[in-house]
Amino acid sequence: MSGVQSAPPAARPAAHRRDRCPLCGRPRVHRYRPFCSAACRDRDLVHWLEGRYRLPAVEDESEEEPQADSEPEEAPRT
Ligand SMILES: [Zn+2]
Repeated sequence: MSGVQSAPPAARPAAHRRDRCPLCGRPRVHRYRPFCSAACRDRDLVHWLEGRYRLPAVEDESEEEPQADSEPEEAPRT
């Protein structure tokens, strides 16, 4: 047998962190972009829906007060 040793596959540098699943950090799959799998996609969707449902259904009917803080900054010259 020859003494040729194949170098172990070097770990790829994390130069493509943007191509990672934002939930678990695994390489994303084009089909489930930007996630790595349907599981992560669904999980994110659930979070999104929950966050939406948590919003109060009653809108705050506070009248908008016109801000009168806009004074003309004209320094009187002497
Ligand atoms: Zn994932």
